[in-house]
Amino acid sequence: MSDIIPFNRIFKDSEEKKAMVEALDGECWHGDGPASKRVESYLCNWLGARYAFLTTSCTHALEMAMMTLDIGEGDEVIMPSFTFVSTANAVRMRGARPVFAEIRSSDLTIDPVDVATKITPATRAVIPIHYAGISADFDGIRRAIDGRDVFIVEDAAQAVGAYWKDRALGTIGDIGCFSFHDTKNITCGEGGALLTGDQTLAEKAEWIREKGTNRSAFLRGEIDKYTWVSQGSSYIPSDLLAALLEAQLQKKEIILESRKKVWEAYMDRLGESRDKGWIILPDIPSYARINYHIFHFHVKDAADRDPLIARFREAGIGASFHYVPLHNAPYARKILGNQVQLPRTEHLADTLIRLPLYPDLVDIRHDVADRVYSVISRYF
Ligand SMILES: *Cc1c(COP(=O)(O)O)cnc(C)c1O
Repeated sequence: MSDIIPFNRIFKDSEEKKAMVEALDGECWHGDGPASKRVESYLCNWLGARYAFLTTSCTHALEMAMMTLDIGEGDEVIMPSFTFVSTANAVRMRGARPVFAEIRSSDLTIDPVDVATKITPATRAVIPIHYAGISADFDGIRRAIDGRDVFIVEDAAQAVGAYWKDRALGTIGDIGCFSFHDTKNITCGEGGALLTGDQTLAEKAEWIREKGTNRSAFLRGEIDKYTWVSQGSSYIPSDLLAALLEAQLQKKEIILESRKKVWEAYMDRLGESRDKGWIILPDIPSYARINYHIFHFHVKDAADRDPLIARFREAGIGASFHYVPLHNAPYARKILGNQVQLPRTEHLADTLIRLPLYPDLVDIRHDVADRVYSVISRYF
């Protein structure tokens, strides 16, 4: 029996297979079919969203969002540098400029104070990331925008089923983008969704997703032929994937509950390491209800991160770091130069460690947390 705890593992049983086989036996393999419709209304009901569109990925949902908002050349979009490349690529794909802001030490979400300093007349949108499913500070971001005509697009890739106050993440900004990649809590392998509460944006998003046509309205019988009405592409997932996603969504409670127990086991067991001053544990703001997507902590000295990760791996624990800040990546330096200074982001990224977190760990969580604690205590 292997004793190695991988970083991530898909949570599945025979239900996913059953759903896929049923979908294969059906007559609709293309997108926007019956399973897609069911999943979209499920997401709306569950999360209190007005419109939800399944997409082939969160990357594509972010691209669609930028197109839907007509963001283009000369425009600026503020986002954290501490994020996945897709957030910035979506902006670049439109010829617009990503402007990187600092994150806060307490919760690794975009720092509204720094956002305020980065707003210019060219700013068209802010893209907060809900890192680890921890809600960004919407009150702070709105204060930073200060009544200007600046959209909020949530990169809620990691935040399906997490909340800001009593509102589901992904439904709070003008547009929200989800990921159902198999590293996320709920998955169909590769998939995503775009959410909005605005009817005009929803209509545009629907055209863009359907190759720039009003085919969706045609399929609903609202018009008698469809035509080219805007720029667009093909961002619709096959109904087979929607069927898989539907089966996963049925498990959302058990996924959340199990993840929560594992997360809490780490938090409890590692309290002592924090009290001894060895590590810094996450600090969840009171307005945030998390979905236990990631368990992360920080070491104080960046020089300790890689050696400690190596010790974890020697002990069979698939620990990992996260995000090389985008402003230091070769492509960012090419388009933005070497002038972007985000020291806090760099320090936070250089000191972060993520631990394995997935539902199948629930029964061995105390043992895993003990092993983690003993690696840390032997190291320091
Ligand atoms: C996973 C992730 C994405 C990309 O999601 P895909 O569905 O793989 O395209 C984008 N942004 C963030 C913050 C992510 O964590």
